[in-house]
Amino acid sequence: MISDSNLAAIRTELFYGSSDYTKNQPDLFVPHRFQMLAPSQVKGYLESVKSALTSSEILIYIHIPFCFSECLFCNSFPLKSDPQLQSQYLQALLKEIDLMAAAGIFAGKTAKCIYFGGGTPTIFPNRDIKQILERIRSVIPLAEGCSITTEAHPVTITSKERLKGLAEAGVNRISMGCQTFDPDILSLCNRNNSEEQIGAVVKAAHEFGISVNIDMMAGLPGQSMESLERDLLALERVKPDAVEYIRHEIVNPLIVDLYKEKPELVVSDDTLFNMVLTAQRWMKGAGYEQNGSYTNDRQWAYRYYWLQELPIIAFGVRTRSYTTTLCYDKHEDLSTYVRMTDKGIPPIGRHIVLTKREQMFRTLMLNIQLAKGLEVGLFKTRYEVDPFAVFADLFNKLKRLGCLEEATDFVRLSEFGALFVEDVCDCIIDEALKEDSGGATRMPHSEGSRSVRL
Ligand code: SF4
Repeated sequence: MISDSNLAAIRTELFYGSSDYTKNQPDLFVPHRFQMLAPSQVKGYLESVKSALTSSEILIYIHIPFCFSECLFCNSFPLKSDPQLQSQYLQALLKEIDLMAAAGIFAGKTAKCIYFGGGTPTIFPNRDIKQILERIRSVIPLAEGCSITTEAHPVTITSKERLKGLAEAGVNRISMGCQTFDPDILSLCNRNNSEEQIGAVVKAAHEFGISVNIDMMAGLPGQSMESLERDLLALERVKPDAVEYIRHEIVNPLIVDLYKEKPELVVSDDTLFNMVLTAQRWMKGAGYEQNGSYTNDRQWAYRYYWLQELPIIAFGVRTRSYTTTLCYDKHEDLSTYVRMTDKGIPPIGRHIVLTKREQMFRTLMLNIQLAKGLEVGLFKTRYEVDPFAVFADLFNKLKRLGCLEEATDFVRLSEFGALFVEDVCDCIIDEALKEDSGGATRMPHSEGSRSVRL
């Protein structure tokens, strides 16, 4: 049971407002610990990756960093669409898949889910997406019912032919950026999508057996509670299969400029708090699951299994891959990425071996975003320590704020912890950084970090 005083404490002690909020979910990130990897070290490094891949099932992430749009709410720093560069990138991507297969990364593995993220992956025609999926299928078997998602800008998927082609290529889930249906806010954000257009895509996608997620945001420039409530009603009419509601992150230089010119457009922290509360309560009432509340893999299998700590092998420039014990990044720079694949070297640029303590923090941070929470017995077996002892201070803080529920066999988010899961996760990252970095803190995008990983 949570009281009004708990809510007030969450607001003052846990909640990140408009200017402080940085999207950190879902994974633990300890940036100060990365070590560079020279091209000559990559081959040897892949042997450690293979040893760390103890699970027979893996998740595959494919990054398409290009986009034709310039939305002010964008936080992924896409590259401007360019047919020649895109074609070069496609070839490098296919080569990277071959190189990782040749290194034996996929031996004995099955792909549980595949996720195309961006940028706008559907900037590539169906034939390219099909080619990438065929290449993946040629190096690793797909699990039965493998969930294959592509992110998409609505305007790229309005035709039935397009959706049919995606379905034929194997895509069975689309994640569409929408953020709001409010025409005034969309226009401010350099975006234009209507409820009718989005509703038509959802209906047409269903005809081809494709389920649809819609990404939404709270805290967009000039957004009011009334506007957010209208968005919720629109979602009830559009009826997507899944919704992800996140907070607008002030990171894009274009939005920073707009806010400098018109500071009155910044949503106040109190209003943002109410927006998050309202949107998250609506999600729960409407039966939509997201970080903090997943009970099964039906709405977003890739994320559900990620939170269960299935390894992610990511392909493409700027991507981050994880096993339970290590983490590595591809090069940020497209030309380096292409040059290395041309030379037959997987384009890995830096890595971390997670300490036992970091592994424990990562397990907590990921598992706590599932409805069942952290399973105490499993944690004890794996790490040979009691999570109640390891995380005593953190758990006490989150319990005091009414965000955590404990029993002898689990620790999970309370109803309110789930509503403010982004803040709980930031609190966990802060604790992890505080303990092993000698004072390193998260680097908000608003302070210049341009590192975006999916
Ligand atoms: S939000 Fe999506 S569509 Fe808009 S610029 Fe970013 S990647 Fe492109």
